[in-house]
Amino acid sequence: TFHKIQLESLTWGESLGQGSFTQIYRGVQRDQEGGEQHQTEVLLKVLDSGQRNYSASFLEAASVMSQVSHKHLVLLHGVSIGKDSVMVQEYVRHGALDTYLRRSQAEGKVTTSWKLQVAKQLAYALNFLEDKKIVHGNVSAKKVLLAREGDAAGRSPPFIKLSDPGVSITVLAPERELLVDRIPWVAPECVRDPAALALEADRWSFGATLWEIFGSGAVPLGALEPSKKLDFYLSALQLPPPKWTELANLVAQCMDYQPRGRPSFRAILRDLNSLITSGGRLAGRGEDARL
Ligand code: ATP
Repeated sequence: TFHKIQLESLTWGESLGQGSFTQIYRGVQRDQEGGEQHQTEVLLKVLDSGQRNYSASFLEAASVMSQVSHKHLVLLHGVSIGKDSVMVQEYVRHGALDTYLRRSQAEGKVTTSWKLQVAKQLAYALNFLEDKKIVHGNVSAKKVLLAREGDAAGRSPPFIKLSDPGVSITVLAPERELLVDRIPWVAPECVRDPAALALEADRWSFGATLWEIFGSGAVPLGALEPSKKLDFYLSALQLPPPKWTELANLVAQCMDYQPRGRPSFRAILRDLNSLITSGGRLAGRGEDARL
């Protein structure tokens, strides 16, 4: 259930790289409304032609995103189904958060309150999905898109949009490598059995993403070989805790190996709000470095 878009109404622009099974392009969509021509800047995600067996899941991801509407979820314009399946979504100006963090950290652009705002907006989007019992299934800083940078002085906050989940891990079971590659974002129960994907898995992924947001652009477990990543889960290890104790507690609660032990997004939002209050205090005392 999504809006079908004619291939002829799309103009293809520069390539922006690729996802696991997709090629990503910038583009323009033209449409007529009440006799008027509109041009919209869009992002085109094309499923690789060798991956037709994943097209049902790819389209399912599009369908989920088009059924819901939230200011912190990427807007899906529709899908073009022909020789290739193409997802047409809003173009989000500043791209993925993981690369943005790496660039900005070096330039000293992002502050603690900026990071907390980003985390809170992501938790809002996931709380909205959780209320609707919709599992996202692929939450990470790479899937958080930055629509507005905001400014460091904190006068205008950043604004994020969570991207579509792409091909679901429930159909990726044969792609063991890809699943292992998603450690530590993918919940441990899903590595054991991707069919175990449920709402609690997004809470784990949020914890890993929170770690990433505050981790100075470092890739969590980035230095580990795939077999060592698996060992990490098998031994029920935890990421090195952030220095800020309250933040470390929240990450640890989300990344509980027992799915039922993880807090709901409503509870996560409450915790983030109290972090925002105490983070502001620390920053005000010039103790930002402690975070
Ligand atoms: P996956 O590998 O998880 O299946 P995918 O194929 O859906 O992912 P993404 O990782 O979502 O692809 O996108 C790849 C890159 O394209 C992102 O890192 C980001 O830089 C860019 N990108 C994706 N969506 C948008 C968007 N709506 N606006 C701007 N840039 C985007």
